[in-house]
Amino acid sequence: MALGFDIVTIFPQVILSYVQESILKRASKMGLLDVKTYNLRDYTTDRHKSVDDYPYGGGPGMVMKVEPIYNAVKAIKADGKERMVIMTSPQGKVFSQEMASELARCQKRFIILCGRYEGIDERVKELLVDEELSIGDYVLTGGELAALIIIDSLTRLIPGVLGDADSAQQDSFSEGLLDYPHYTRPPEFMGLKVPEVLFSGNHREIQAWRAQESLRRTLKRRPDLFIKHYKGA
Ligand code: SAM
Repeated sequence: MALGFDIVTIFPQVILSYVQESILKRASKMGLLDVKTYNLRDYTTDRHKSVDDYPYGGGPGMVMKVEPIYNAVKAIKADGKERMVIMTSPQGKVFSQEMASELARCQKRFIILCGRYEGIDERVKELLVDEELSIGDYVLTGGELAALIIIDSLTRLIPGVLGDADSAQQDSFSEGLLDYPHYTRPPEFMGLKVPEVLFSGNHREIQAWRAQESLRRTLKRRPDLFIKHYKGA
């Protein structure tokens, strides 16, 4: 299984600088991840390479034009490969770990549209978009961080991308609960000791302690998840 992303942006370097480091870089080298960027200005037709214009009806800010985005998506899709078009937007469905798992399983390529300014001309959504995704209830200056969050969270779910040391199986949300607390050396720091059970070598006891801690902190920090976990169970 491999994932492919085609990112439409006016700041390709923002995307590339992140995917060319660490685990995403390793995944690309292993042939498990393919991220391509498309500079929206290359799909403009005017002398000034304009990607934005004044909003109809007046008001502050600029709006991203429909034509360059339409041209970019058409050019990307010209190879005939199946793709899902995602538009980043604070008004979309809120992205979650569950959604990341579903998308990672669907084995398509993804085109991600990164907005800027006041957002993207509404007709883009009607003409081109399969899914409008938000990464949370706050407003960013652009969609590049949202695109990177989607790329990163899907990539770490591809089998073989994470080594054992950074396995995704026990991560928060993967079983509907928050992860248990982690410790490494030294055994004591500034008077704070690592819980005794973790030195016991008794795997069953360690597992039981971790399960209990995972439940305890989910109940305390995210009672919404705790209730959902038990209702679903
Ligand atoms: N005027 C828009 C609104 O209030 O809904 C906000 C536009 S925002 C300043 C510019 C771009 O940043 C958006 O088109 C989108 O691509 C991206 N963006 C901002 N916040 C986001 C979020 N929470 N999730 C995903 N993308 C976001």
